[in-house]
Amino acid sequence: MKHTIRQSICTTGQEALRKSQRRMAATLLPALAFVVVACGTGEDDSQDSGQAAVAAVDGARIMAADSEPGNWLTHGRNYDEQRYSPLTAINADNAAKLGLAWYYDLDTKRGQEATPIVVDGRMFVSTAWSMVKALDAATGELLWAYDPQVPGTKAVEVCCDVVNRGVAVWKGRVYVGTLDGRLIALDAANGEPVWTVQTTVPALPYSITGAPRIFDDKVVIGNGGAEFGVRGYVSAYDTDDGELLWRFHTVPGDPSKPFESKAMELAAKTWTGEWWTMGGGGTVWDAIVFDPVLGLVYIGVGNGAPWNQAIRSPGGGDNLFLASIVALDADTGEYVWHYQTTPGETWDYTATQPLILADLEIDGITRKVIMQAPKNGFFYVLDRETGEFISAKPFATVTWASGIDPETGRPIENPTARYSGPAPSFVAPGPVGAHSWQPMAYNPQTGLVYIPVQDAAFPYFADNNYERTELGFNTGVDFNSASMPQIPEVKAQIMSGVKGFLLAWDPVAQAEAWRVDYPGPSNGGVLTTAGNLVVQGTAGGELIAYRADNGQRLWSTPARTGVLAAPVSYEAGGEQYIAVAAGWGGVFALAPGEIGLLSGRVGNVSRILAYKLGGNVELPPGGALAELAFNPPELEPSDETVAQGMFLFHRHCVVCHGDAAVSGGLLPDLRASPAIASPEAFQAIVLEGVRGDLGMVSYAAELDGDDAEAIRAYLIARAHESLALADAP
Ligand code: CA
Repeated sequence: MKHTIRQSICTTGQEALRKSQRRMAATLLPALAFVVVACGTGEDDSQDSGQAAVAAVDGARIMAADSEPGNWLTHGRNYDEQRYSPLTAINADNAAKLGLAWYYDLDTKRGQEATPIVVDGRMFVSTAWSMVKALDAATGELLWAYDPQVPGTKAVEVCCDVVNRGVAVWKGRVYVGTLDGRLIALDAANGEPVWTVQTTVPALPYSITGAPRIFDDKVVIGNGGAEFGVRGYVSAYDTDDGELLWRFHTVPGDPSKPFESKAMELAAKTWTGEWWTMGGGGTVWDAIVFDPVLGLVYIGVGNGAPWNQAIRSPGGGDNLFLASIVALDADTGEYVWHYQTTPGETWDYTATQPLILADLEIDGITRKVIMQAPKNGFFYVLDRETGEFISAKPFATVTWASGIDPETGRPIENPTARYSGPAPSFVAPGPVGAHSWQPMAYNPQTGLVYIPVQDAAFPYFADNNYERTELGFNTGVDFNSASMPQIPEVKAQIMSGVKGFLLAWDPVAQAEAWRVDYPGPSNGGVLTTAGNLVVQGTAGGELIAYRADNGQRLWSTPARTGVLAAPVSYEAGGEQYIAVAAGWGGVFALAPGEIGLLSGRVGNVSRILAYKLGGNVELPPGGALAELAFNPPELEPSDETVAQGMFLFHRHCVVCHGDAAVSGGLLPDLRASPAIASPEAFQAIVLEGVRGDLGMVSYAAELDGDDAEAIRAYLIARAHESLALADAP
């Protein structure tokens, strides 16, 4: 009976909120606090009915997340997505006593990028291949597992590994987006599917790697695929039954057809040429943040398709809403405001990176701000009510622009940064960005934002013979000319410019507070806590705790695999835990080749790792990559054949098998592959697709037998070259 009354209060409170004008919601918050108390106590319910409601998360609970700090209810913990835990049992004074409490081995060897959700002692986490696990958060015991059976062949339609960045939990269900574009609602009690919708056109190279976000019984999901040539959009579905409620396209379609919205009609005026035949890009593959007070949902929009604007929109133009933060009406999905970080985007400078909401005192006035550190290397602070530009400063090495004009909010571009002719432009940041999806965190006690940063410039060569391909990247950039020169001195110089570091940034002063340098790029996402802690995993395979105020290193432990995902903190059984989904992967383990190994030869051992004070569980040894054993056959192809093979490799294979055929640690290194010993074995893989289930589909639509033989010749030549370099004094 009590349960029913409580549910009724909850429902009434939420409907009152839903029906109210979103912009009036602030005035309702005191009333809402009453509802929150009534809704947030699953344990009391269990005393009434004998069975606790599983994952009974709703908007009132998320808005009052600070009142139940032992839970991690949504992607960034609360709707502000600050990734700040109010828990203090683990703190700067005792973090040195942290130890492993439990670990859970995952059934995949690909990259792990998910933020676990923890509700009332249960952890819900997605893994590579969009699989979902429910675990006991105190013990790591498996409660249930769900596998959406994503076809292995889908792996060739994703740029940056078959990853998934997390689930959303709402009213007894767990929501996951799958690599092949489905959105699935699962019963949180047992993992059984409740409904499934296809959010993308299956025939097109769309993918989903991002976490859904939920508010007002709407589950919002975006997609990826801009490297391959798709048109981005974000969709809201009814959490109850999967009905499509609204959709916002981020770039305009064919202007000879009706525009989907007024926003698209306006955006089309900023494009030229026939961009819609190339997709246009602008995918919303990560950041989606709801603002319950303003009734807005902010989306981070990705890069152009193709990257090269001279091909995509040959007459120039801003190309809205590429590389923009866009605010939408949360009820209707209609455009409210936008801020474009990189007008006329041409360097893969997505603005999909995580968005954090905060109230900051700037020039004596408390402002409602939104903050982002996108790929382009500038840290932005905007007024989130209006989209007004407040400030931006570079947080990494930046050469494409000298600054942001404070009057217009537009970048002051370096005139040599664009590439369209025969000469390359060597630009920082490169396409991997100064900061990618790895979550940053904001600590309101220190006033600092903690950002996993990298310096990795890139020589952009225009592909002046651009032709759209069915399989693989459509960027308009020549990766063959950009590949790593195999001249030791030149290579050493390029590698020495690639860096990774954890940066503590003051968003009001727009200045560095402290930093910790790492050996290489692509380190993990960040957690900060009220215990004056910052916790981060590294590409080199450590999990480290620092003092949030000054960066002092307090504790570290070997994770025995590279860590990309951000840790979370929660309570279970009365104890505080810090947990992370560990497992090397992502873009640096694939396309950039040798640069991905700068932090060491750490492989993928996919696990959930959970730590507590006094934890004493031992992690099994291992995790290092085996040394490569090159055993290439003797083959004396012509220089022309090797050059043709090199060209074809960097056109079709580089995205997964690495620049200059060097594996970044995730997939087999082809220089050392037994498959290059025989033309028949090689062609069976490349042309017949015998390893399609592993993601290596047939390339017969793009390559013939001579092409495959040329690629094999290039790989053999690279193996001999690598042997010779290793033998050199
Ligand atoms: Ca991209």
